[in-house]
Amino acid sequence: MTTFLGMPATAPRGVGNLRGDEPFPQAARRELGNAQLRRNLGHATTTIRRKSGAVISELPDWQELRTAGSALKAATMARLPELLEQLEANVTAAGGVVHWAADANEANRIVTDLVRATGHQRVIKVKSMATQEIGLNEALEAAGIAPVETDLAELIVQLGHDRPSHILVPAIHRNRSEIREIFLREMPGVDPGLTDEPAELAAAARRYLRETFLSTKVAVSGANFAIAETGTLAVLESEGNGRMCLTLPDTLITVMGIEKLVPTWRDLEVFLQLLPRSSTGERMNPYTSMWTGVTPGDGPQNVHLVLLDNGRTAVLADEVGRQALHCIRCSACMNVCPVYERTGGHAYGSVYPGPIGAVLSPQLTGVADNASLPYASSLCGACFDACPVKIDIPSLLVHLRNEVPHPRSERVAMAAAAYTMDHLALYTRAQHAAKLSKHVKRLPPPFNGWTASRDLPPPPPETFRDWWAKR
Ligand code: SF4
Repeated sequence: MTTFLGMPATAPRGVGNLRGDEPFPQAARRELGNAQLRRNLGHATTTIRRKSGAVISELPDWQELRTAGSALKAATMARLPELLEQLEANVTAAGGVVHWAADANEANRIVTDLVRATGHQRVIKVKSMATQEIGLNEALEAAGIAPVETDLAELIVQLGHDRPSHILVPAIHRNRSEIREIFLREMPGVDPGLTDEPAELAAAARRYLRETFLSTKVAVSGANFAIAETGTLAVLESEGNGRMCLTLPDTLITVMGIEKLVPTWRDLEVFLQLLPRSSTGERMNPYTSMWTGVTPGDGPQNVHLVLLDNGRTAVLADEVGRQALHCIRCSACMNVCPVYERTGGHAYGSVYPGPIGAVLSPQLTGVADNASLPYASSLCGACFDACPVKIDIPSLLVHLRNEVPHPRSERVAMAAAAYTMDHLALYTRAQHAAKLSKHVKRLPPPFNGWTASRDLPPPPPETFRDWWAKR
């Protein structure tokens, strides 16, 4: 056991998938040129939005549920250390083993060692954002262990040597003919006559995975929720593949971000209503699996829980930014975001794309490492309206924009503007001078960055002061 006495640390560089190779504007420009991607995304997000809107409108108390979800999350964050210790005590008492991971390196090392100790070289995986965040698959592969994704969309991404582009539907950028090609190329034993009918594609994946489920003794999962008062972990999913992984193997290792806690069983009631309606547009997700430590003779007999920080306590330390930890990963904000719908998830560079990614990733890595993401938004506010736990993403974006290191030219320009506005005579002269620039469409360097992607509005023919003086 280690004792941590320093300031909260951000997610380390060189490991995991929170940082892209290029700034958002550059990546977005390239992705915008992909018409197929925009068609796939437009179709998928419109369908999910329609389904979700229909089931949400059935609940007369939806707004009260959102308020309850938001309040529960805020209360949980306020007592996180105490609740985590309660969770640890209850998981341990139920026969599980709890591990604390300060960052991605430590979490990857813990999981790799646990798998090695079993003597097996293959693990089946339940869809998990936390393991993608820390780059667990890459770490396992480097250690000679083969991770097999069992969620259909994750499997498509894995077989396609691709990157996920959506929290809930990681292969949202692929259409069915692209998926067929990936299966034909990469899936062992696939029927060469496979068509692109969704039922046929699902059956091919099922055949491939069935053999893997039955012959693999170690599983790795994430967790949607952890209940502190009982030490119970929960995974919500639609396909049943998760339940196979959570029940068939001998060893189950769960990697969970420390913010996924809820204090009591009753609290779960709120989130079990909010999550499926916001994410998949279902009244209830088809499979909710819960387990508490080890049950002798039933299910995995070696149960481990890795509690992952990786920058989360640094986010918690920011009174404004900590709201991002309320996220239940429903992906509703992505499905309504006009920027995400046009650029797709890869442009964000992190496994957390869309509006929540634009605020969570920079906070986990430190804002300087993801400085362009707080600007990957039009601040239209659709994400705030859609979020089932009422995370005020637009305010978070503005908060983070203030923390981004600004270029010297911008700081000088702002200081000059502030000085001018503080001095009336100077301000009046500047207003009159601006009128002379009515035919200017682009600003000269170093201000040309502003007008590179915006029209410079023409100055009004008369200032307010002139208008007032005439009356
Ligand atoms: S920020 Fe809100 S809407 Fe977006 S994924 Fe998280 S919970 Fe869902």
